[in-house]
Amino acid sequence: MKKIIITIDGYSSCGKSTLAKALAAQLNYVFIDSGAMYRAITLYFLRNHIDWNNPSEVKNAIENITLEFSYNKENGSCEMFLNDENVEWLIRDMLVAENVSEVAAVKEVREFAIAEQRKMGKGKGIVMDGRDIGSTVFPKAEFKIFLIADPAIRVERRFREMLEKNPNITIDEVKANLEMRDYIDSNREFSPLRKAKDAVELDNSNLTIEDQMKIALKLAKGKIQD
Ligand code: C5P
Repeated sequence: MKKIIITIDGYSSCGKSTLAKALAAQLNYVFIDSGAMYRAITLYFLRNHIDWNNPSEVKNAIENITLEFSYNKENGSCEMFLNDENVEWLIRDMLVAENVSEVAAVKEVREFAIAEQRKMGKGKGIVMDGRDIGSTVFPKAEFKIFLIADPAIRVERRFREMLEKNPNITIDEVKANLEMRDYIDSNREFSPLRKAKDAVELDNSNLTIEDQMKIALKLAKGKIQD
């Protein structure tokens, strides 16, 4: 059967990864969380005190970074490895969330991440979620979704997720972080967050994952059979 590229873009905490993961599992495709790559690069920069406003420092640092995803059979997740270290848990930290959008706005960082993402999509059969996947990384992707959700619902979702990791976190901190990331992601110069012209917009504020899957799967199968 023909394999296609499916992209899912949108603002922070719209549930992109949840939908992408479920869709990939149903189609037997590879799920790629492009945000995890920017988070892993940010973790590397923080650990190694890299000044991301200094292009030559960034270039040198990137030469020492290897990013890979590995499938964990036990929990069905694709986990991020930074230089052979499993950082899937560490990259969900608030310190990373506070800095990732600044790092992701750096031209050299984007060029590196986008090149890696395109390599991962070579054989098609992938579902990749992010901010610029349908608009820049795979402008010719066969099926593009732009996910939206009510901001208050997004904050609530992310707050519940973060509580598991950090019991002291407040809803205001989560809200401020989402607003800041959305602002930087939408206003950066290189490859900003944009809805691709040919993307299907899906508002999941009041949809269960099963509802979303019904819609997405039907559209995806239509594209695969085209
Ligand atoms: O998807 P997630 O929230 O984990 O992404 C973390 C950050 O990585 C985003 O806030 C954004 O700054 C950046 N990102 C990006 N382009 C992508 C995916 C993520 O700039 N394609």
